[in-house]
This record gives sequence, C-alpha cells and structure tokens, in this order.
Amino acid sequence: MAQAKIRLYLDHPLAAGQPLLLSQAQAHYLFAVMRLAAGAQVLAFNGRQGEWLAEVVQVSKRGGTLRALAQTAPQRAPPDLWLMFAPIKKARTDFIVEKAAELGAARILPVQTDFTNAERIRQDRLQAHAIEAAEQCGGTFVPEVADLAPLARSLDGWNPARQILWADESRLGAAATLAGLAAGPWAVLIGPEGGFSAPERIRLGALPFVTPVSLGPRILRADTAAVAALTLWQASLGDWR
Ligand code: SAH
Repeated sequence: MAQAKIRLYLDHPLAAGQPLLLSQAQAHYLFAVMRLAAGAQVLAFNGRQGEWLAEVVQVSKRGGTLRALAQTAPQRAPPDLWLMFAPIKKARTDFIVEKAAELGAARILPVQTDFTNAERIRQDRLQAHAIEAAEQCGGTFVPEVADLAPLARSLDGWNPARQILWADESRLGAAATLAGLAAGPWAVLIGPEGGFSAPERIRLGALPFVTPVSLGPRILRADTAAVAALTLWQASLGDWR
C-alpha cells in the first residue's frame, strides 16, 4: 500500500503550476525529519482553496519550494459553530483546541470567566495546534483561535443571531438533548474547573440567545466537556447528521 501523503498547511495561494515557498520549519520537517527529496509528492491546503497535490521542486535547509500540481479535494467549511471555553492548564487547553479543530469548530474563542485561572494564553501556539490538527485529520479548514477576552465583554457585543449552548453544570443529571433547537449559527460555552460564578449564571440565564444544556449525570472536566458538547451539537444540529 502506498504510504499516506504528508499534509501541509501553507498560507499561500494555490493554483496549478504555482510555486510554493516553504518556511524553515516546514523545510526541516519535510527534508530533515521525513527525508523527502525532489520529486516527492505532498498534499497542501491553505484553508481557502481546498487540497492540492504538490511536488518538491527545490530542497534546502532554510526553505525550499514545492509546485502545486492539481486539486485533490474541494474546500470544505465546517458548520457555523464556535467554541468558547475558559482556558485551563496548558496541556489541557492544547487538547481542547486540537479536539475542537478535529470535531469541526469554525472558530475557537478562549474566554476569561470569573473562575478562570489563566491570565493570558499563547494565541500563536494554540493556532499552531489548530493547524496541526487540520493537517492530521484531513480537513481543508483551519479554525481561527481568537485571543483571550473577558466573557462579560464577549456577551456585551454578542450578535443575538448566534445562539449560545451553555454547558451548565447545575443541570447535571438532566437529559442531555438538543431536541427542539434549530440549526444555524451557534457557539458552545464551557466553563473552567471552578464552573460559572453566581453573577455569571444570573446573566447567562437572562439572555434570550442562551440555552443551558446538561452533559449528563457526571461532572466532566472542562476538556472532556468541550469534546462532549461539540459532539452533541455536531450529531444533533451539525454535519454529523
Ligand atoms: N466545579 C464545577 C464543575 C466544573 S466542570 C462543579 O463542581 O459544579 C467544567 C465545565 O464543564 C462546567 O463549567 C461546564 O461548562 C462543563 N460541564 C461539566 N460537566 C457538565 C455536566 N454534567 N453538564 C453540563 N456541563 C458540564
């Protein structure tokens, strides 16, 4: 069986014959780690123009060049689902971003809630995780990871056309169902280890575009809750149907 081709995200226009310049890190990966030589073929995508077969034209330590040959898959966008989550410990936050990209979130928004411990995030690192997840899962879309923003401010400027599915730990044990909810633009909201504060619950409970949801009879860690809520949404209202 032929070996699966390497998939590479390139922030570069893709068209037949188009030369594609590699960054030093990409060149290191392709030529030093994977030992590709001139003529080897890889798959490239830029998040906008589908997936393309490309061949190695020039090998160099500092960079090198590919040439795009032909499109192998059309561009596919995930449903209009955002993930809002309160960042937790580094490895678990990385996990949340990686899984959100795999599960088909269109945008990832870290939010600072009353009980969020993290003061800042490394947006560039998290974005790199989203790119790696897209490369690995066969996707042609890379969700944007936004910078950390206070939840209160995100809610102040919220477009009410986008509904929020609030994973509400106080509904523990209720049926975890999205029955009766309509497809459309949504955002899933997951709290931190400490859950949501009383003022946050009052505010979220009063917003007409917020729907609280249970994630079953057990308290899930925030990283598990993010995966569970995205799965529930995708299966009920998203592109798993
Ligand atoms: N410390 C809190 C739990 C926080 S769990 C407590 O003891 O109540 C972290 C986040 O995951 C929660 O804020 C919520 O968004 C989500 N979550 C975890 N388990 C859940 C459940 N069974 N139902 C709904 N949301 C849940």
